Amino acid sequence: MGGHSKIESVLKEERIFYPPQKGRDEAYISSKYEYQEIYKYSLEDPDGFWSERAKELITWFRYWDRTCYWDFHKPEIRWFEGGKLNACYNCLDRHLEGPNRNKAAIIWQGEPDDEVRVYTYQMLHREVSRFANVLKKLGVKKGDRVSLYLPMIPELPIVMLACARIGAIHSVVFGGFSAEALKTRIQDCEAKILITVDGYWRAGRKVEAKKNADEALKDCPTVEKCIVVRRLGNEVNWVEGRDLWYHELINDPEISDECPCEEMDAEDILFILYTSGSTGKPKGVFHTTGGYLVYVAHTLQWVFDLKPEDIFWCTADIGWITGHSYIVYGPLALGATEIMYEGVPTYPHPGRFWELVQKFKVTLFYTAPTVIRALMRAGDEWPHKYDLSSLRILGTVGEPINPEAWLWYHKHVGRSRCPIVDTWWQTETGGFLISPLPYAIPQKPGSATFPLPGVEPVILRDDGTEADVNEGGHLCMKRAWPGMLRGVWGNPERFKEVYFSRFPGLYYTGDGARRDEDGYIWIIGRLDDVINVSGHRLGTMELESALVAHPAVAEAAVIGVPHEVKGETIYAFVILREGYQPSEELANDLRQHVRKLIGPIATPEFIQFVPGLPKTRSGKIMRRILRKIATGQYEDLGDTSTLADPSVVEELIRTRKEME
Ligand code: ATP
Ligand code: MG
Repeated sequence: MGGHSKIESVLKEERIFYPPQKGRDEAYISSKYEYQEIYKYSLEDPDGFWSERAKELITWFRYWDRTCYWDFHKPEIRWFEGGKLNACYNCLDRHLEGPNRNKAAIIWQGEPDDEVRVYTYQMLHREVSRFANVLKKLGVKKGDRVSLYLPMIPELPIVMLACARIGAIHSVVFGGFSAEALKTRIQDCEAKILITVDGYWRAGRKVEAKKNADEALKDCPTVEKCIVVRRLGNEVNWVEGRDLWYHELINDPEISDECPCEEMDAEDILFILYTSGSTGKPKGVFHTTGGYLVYVAHTLQWVFDLKPEDIFWCTADIGWITGHSYIVYGPLALGATEIMYEGVPTYPHPGRFWELVQKFKVTLFYTAPTVIRALMRAGDEWPHKYDLSSLRILGTVGEPINPEAWLWYHKHVGRSRCPIVDTWWQTETGGFLISPLPYAIPQKPGSATFPLPGVEPVILRDDGTEADVNEGGHLCMKRAWPGMLRGVWGNPERFKEVYFSRFPGLYYTGDGARRDEDGYIWIIGRLDDVINVSGHRLGTMELESALVAHPAVAEAAVIGVPHEVKGETIYAFVILREGYQPSEELANDLRQHVRKLIGPIATPEFIQFVPGLPKTRSGKIMRRILRKIATGQYEDLGDTSTLADPSVVEELIRTRKEME
C-alpha cells in the first residue's frame, strides 16, 4: 500500500436535507438529541441497552445469563448466553395470538402482473409447520445443513423458516448463480438436502434452474435428497430415489400442521451465507440465533421507523444478506406486512417498481444504488407516471451511493418528501451499522451519517493511529454488536485473518471511510480499490461520483493502473446515457469536468467507453476484473463465478482493444 498513509477525500458534498415534520411526532426516534442520548447510553451500559431491546422485541423461552462477552483477539463473540428461543416462533407463532393472526405477512407479486399470492401469518405458519415436518420425516435434524437454490418465490422464506423451526441450518445460494458456484457452496457446508425449483421467470425468459441443480449435484455426495418446487411446470430431468416434488411432500395427508419449535440456544447457528465475492473468493459467514434476531428486528424498527400499518418493500433477493435480514427475519419478527417481488426492475418496462409501489401502496421502500442508477438512466418520466404518494421513507444499500443518484431518488421517487436512509453494513454485520435515523438525522447525500446505538466505529491510518477529520482511513469497529458474524464456516483461521488481524483487538471491515467536521461518516469504497496517484490516495467512489455528475454519464467505474512516475494513474470505465456517443472529444470533456470538480490529480488519464460493467450478482462493480482488463491480462481474471453477466467481459475486452 506504499508509505504514504493518508487517504484523501476530494469531493465535498455541501447539501443537507432535514427530516420532514410529518411523521416526526410519531417516530421511534424523533430528534438528533434523542439519538445522541440513546447512543451515549448504549455505549455506557451495553448490557442494559441490549437487554431492554432484546426483551422488548423478541420472545424468549428462557432469558440469558450473560448479555454479552467478546474478545476480538481470540476472536470469540457471544450474546445472550444461556438464553433460549426459536427464530421461527418469533416470526410466526407469537403473532397468532393477537391481532396479527389474519394480517398479511407476505404479499407476493409474481413477474406476471396477474400472479399475486397473499400469505397471512396464520397461513404462513401452517405451510412452514408442514414443511418442517417434511424435513423431519426426511431425517433432517438440528444442526444439519440444508441448501436452497430458489428464486424469489414464497417457498424460499417458507423453507428457511421451516429449517429455523427445527434447528436445521439453512444456506441459501442466490438463484442466479451457476451450477459451479452452487456446487462449491453445497460442498463447503456439506448440505444433506437441496431444495430447488423446476424453473422460473426472469425478465420474460424461462430459466431452467433444475438443470443447474442436477449439474451441481453430480459432485455433491453429502446431498441425499433434492426437493423440487414446481413453478413453471417445465419438463425436468428426474433422478429416482433422490428427487422429490415439494407439493407432493407438503400435501401428503400424513403430514401434520403441528410442529413444535425446537428450543435453540442463543448461540446456536441459524444460517450460513456466502458473501458477494466482490473482492475474491466468497466467505461462508455464519450467524447465530439470538443476537442476529434481536439485531435485525431492532435495526429495522428504528431505521425504517416501521409501524404496524406500514407496507415494507425490500427489493433485494433473499439470496443476499439484505433479503435474509430485511425480507425474512426482520419484518416477520416485527409482525409487518411486506411485498416480495419475483421480477426485475426494468421488465416489462422501467416503471415496474413504481407501478408496484402504486399498486400496493408501499410506504417503506428499500433498494440498491445499482437499481437507482439503472432507473435514473431510463429517464425521469418513469417515476412520474405513477402515484407514489404512499411512500414515507426510502432506503439504499450495497454500495456507496453517488450524490447524483441520491438526489435523483430523493426528487423523483421521494418527491422531496421522503427521508433517505443510506444503510451501511455487510453480510458479516448481520444488520445496519451506520445509517441515518429518518426522523432524527439531517441527511447529506452520499453519507451513511452516524453509527447506530451500540455501534462504535473508528477510522484508522495504515499505522493504526486515528485519522483526522476528513482524512480517509480503514473503517473498524471497537466493540461487538449482537448481529455480528460468529465465524466463517469450517475455517476459523480465515475468520481470524480476514476480520481480526489487520488491527488486533478491532473488527476490520475492509472499507474506507472518513468523518467530516460534523461527525458524518462517508464510506469511500473498499480499501483494496484505493488509487495512489503521486502519493495521493483516492477512494474510487468520489471519482466515480464526479463522473456521474456529468450529464452524459450514466455510470462509471474507476481503477488505478501502474504508472512509472505517479505510482498509479486513473483509468475510468464509462457507460454513457441514452443519446450520447463515445468520442475523443467527449473523453476530453469528461477529463475537464473531473478536473474542475475535484482537481488535476483526479483527472482520469484513460477513459474507456463501455456498454456494461462487470458486476456481482448482487449488483456491485467488480473492480478487480477491471484492473485486469485495463492492463491487458485477459486470460487471468480470477474468480468470475460470482459475475452477473459473463458476456460483459467480452465487450470490455473488445472496447479495450479498440483503444490500442
Ligand atoms: P466480498 O466480501 O465477498 O468481497 P461484498 O463485500 O460485496 O463481497 P457484501 O457483504 O454483500 O459482500 O457487501 C458488503 C459491502 O458492500 C460493504 O463492505 C461495502 O463495501 C458495501 N456497502 C454496503 N452498503 C453500503 C453503503 N450504504 N454505502 C457504501 N458501501 C456499502
Ligand atoms: Mg465484503
